Amino acid sequence: HPTILWFRRDLRLDDNPALVAALRDGGAIIPVYIHAPEEEAPWEPGAASRWWLHWSLAALDESLRNCGNRLWILRGPSLEALRRLVAETGARAIHWNRLYDPATRARDAEIKQRLRAAGLHCESHKSNLLFEPWEILNAGGQPYRVFRAFWRAWSRALNGRPPYPAPEVIPGLPQDRPEPGERPRLDDLDLLPRIDWDQGLRATWTPGECAAWVRAQSFITSRLAQYGEKRDRPDQPGSSRLSPHLHFGEISPRRLLALIVTAFGDPTRGAAEPYVRELGWREFAHHLLYHFPETPTEPLDRRFSAFPWAEEDLETSLRAWQQGRTGIPLVDAGMRELWHTGWMHNRVRMVVASLLTKNLLIPWQSGARWFWDTLVDADLANNTLGWQWTSGCGADAAPYFRIFNPVLQGQRFDPDGAYVRLWCPELARLPNKYLQQPWAAPQSVLADAGVRLGVDYPHPIVDLAQSRARALAAWERIR
Ligand code: FAD
Repeated sequence: HPTILWFRRDLRLDDNPALVAALRDGGAIIPVYIHAPEEEAPWEPGAASRWWLHWSLAALDESLRNCGNRLWILRGPSLEALRRLVAETGARAIHWNRLYDPATRARDAEIKQRLRAAGLHCESHKSNLLFEPWEILNAGGQPYRVFRAFWRAWSRALNGRPPYPAPEVIPGLPQDRPEPGERPRLDDLDLLPRIDWDQGLRATWTPGECAAWVRAQSFITSRLAQYGEKRDRPDQPGSSRLSPHLHFGEISPRRLLALIVTAFGDPTRGAAEPYVRELGWREFAHHLLYHFPETPTEPLDRRFSAFPWAEEDLETSLRAWQQGRTGIPLVDAGMRELWHTGWMHNRVRMVVASLLTKNLLIPWQSGARWFWDTLVDADLANNTLGWQWTSGCGADAAPYFRIFNPVLQGQRFDPDGAYVRLWCPELARLPNKYLQQPWAAPQSVLADAGVRLGVDYPHPIVDLAQSRARALAAWERIR
């Protein structure tokens, strides 16, 4: 009897526990992907994620073909699709790797229960995190809400099985067996955009497991040692840019850790530590989402439910922020990088989120939604943590009064202005002194640089000092 292997956000053959378990069953394996975005509502994959998913599924199919098998594409609802497949193929078992967002958790629990009731062997596996959310708890058996304490427990517990190597052969159904039923092809899922806005994504990324390995290896050998120093610099390639690969499970955190250990030894000390700590943040975010599943829309710190957001017309400023036309160079550079490449540097994510939620007093949920649609690494756990952290309402959030000043942040982390000049070329000829604050430049300097404020580049949509005072006053009302 064949075994069904249900791929979701674990689009790899290496270190894939569900695949290992399916191979142990000994029969043919039917690898499936079920297209059912509505089952992830209200967080169906956004446009940039769909683009990534398309190419990642294509890469997975190719890897499976190299192992003598191939990817079956089905349409949801998932339960019905699986039932039909079981009926058509006589499969007796099904394996998948666990996800942690509330919608898929509820769906998976129901599917497991129904299929088991129908006599199927149905098993889920740990694959996308090093520790399950119920494995790292404080002494009182409660989830951690402070990263430092979580990190201490998490990093001490690091151990474990080595990653599973990718198999060379994945037996499929006999070749001559006719494929039952009409199946959609990958192209039929309409994951790619109908209008051509994705050139920037194509130029920046190669989705899929092979590309994830190449990126991981080259980061570890040539940049990880300087990560601690360079990670905050958006003008330099200091971080790993593995986030979309990790989100789609094209490389497992266990594999990544094993590669780091091979190169650097103890991952929680020395040069590797700052990077492994970020992998710790990723796990912390997933643990929080699991234990506090309402947080994608509700603040963890409940005082913020009554936060006095701005009442004026928010649409205009929200649109200016989305389009990278706020008149504040570092913010505009970040928002344009996001639109063009589907990714934004972490330091700049914090700065643009702080401007939106504190200076403009626009609810963090609006920013999180925009990121959701435009990021190739859009991840419910990490995005929720990032937005709640920056706006002050999350676990272990920065103290509210730490409002990022985008001018100072730009001067400190983009000191030569290379990042702003790349994404805001209309400002490229401004001297460094005024690049991060063109509104402060004398007319003669603007004229020399060919910048007409309000024509070539917008006046700032908000006064940074006044809006900072307004945000602090708003905070006083709820604290
Ligand atoms: P690196 O610095 O190389 O870090 C390695 C890996 O660690 C990343 O790939 C990521 O998986 C994880 N990681 C790093 N920083 C964080 C963090 N602060 N929280 C959780 N995990 C982290 N990250 C996402 O993956 N998806 C999101 O949707 C997302 N939204 C964010 C929204 C806001 C407002 C903020 C402030 C941060 C957000 N982040 C998100 C976290 C972080 O910005 C990205 O993970 C990081 O920029 C990805 O680049 P990298 O792979 O080069 O990271």
